[in-house]
Amino acid sequence: MSKELVKKITEKIMQRMDREKNPIVVNISNRHWHCTKETFEKLFGEGAQPTNIRNLIQPGQFACKETISIRGTKGEIKKVRLIGPFRSYNQIELSRTDCLTLGIDAPVRDSGNVKGSAPITLVGPKREIALPEGAIIQMRHIHFHPSEAENYGVKNMEVVKVRVGKPPRDGVLSVLCRVREDMKLECHLDTDEGNTFNVKNNEQVILL
Ligand SMILES: [Zn+2]
Repeated sequence: MSKELVKKITEKIMQRMDREKNPIVVNISNRHWHCTKETFEKLFGEGAQPTNIRNLIQPGQFACKETISIRGTKGEIKKVRLIGPFRSYNQIELSRTDCLTLGIDAPVRDSGNVKGSAPITLVGPKREIALPEGAIIQMRHIHFHPSEAENYGVKNMEVVKVRVGKPPRDGVLSVLCRVREDMKLECHLDTDEGNTFNVKNNEQVILL
């Protein structure tokens, strides 16, 4: 075996050991929505403002008091929570199970990539809006600050593998890395994924 190959293998094993020693916190994202100021005002009335009820781990992100109903061709789901602040687009994040309930065939997408996604109707207290696109199944992902990404040796938009859950309901999942200055180390799975692997909020996953 060449010296270079031995060096490469050693580095790989050391990276694996390092990552095992530094598991990543995981939280389960329930269905929620993001919207523009304009959409919010249509749903809740002119001049209405979202009410922050809980800051999330990701800096600047917060759960809002405001909920709406969402409707597809087959059904409706009530009390779907807004996550602020306002975005420059409307995005409704659903699990596959939600899609079946609603009768919506939403694509699996990374956040912000809503062009050509599934249509959905938002029902607010003031009025309802039939969006031509916006419903997605969020690609499971890990948020990293750039310094954290460097420590783990990952790049933005790289797809990595993580080990989730405990035997006999454990598994290995492909997960998208999202690296940004305003992000902080945290893995997000949706409720279907959390249920499948019996993973709950504040548990840990291991980057492989
Ligand atoms: Zn996330």
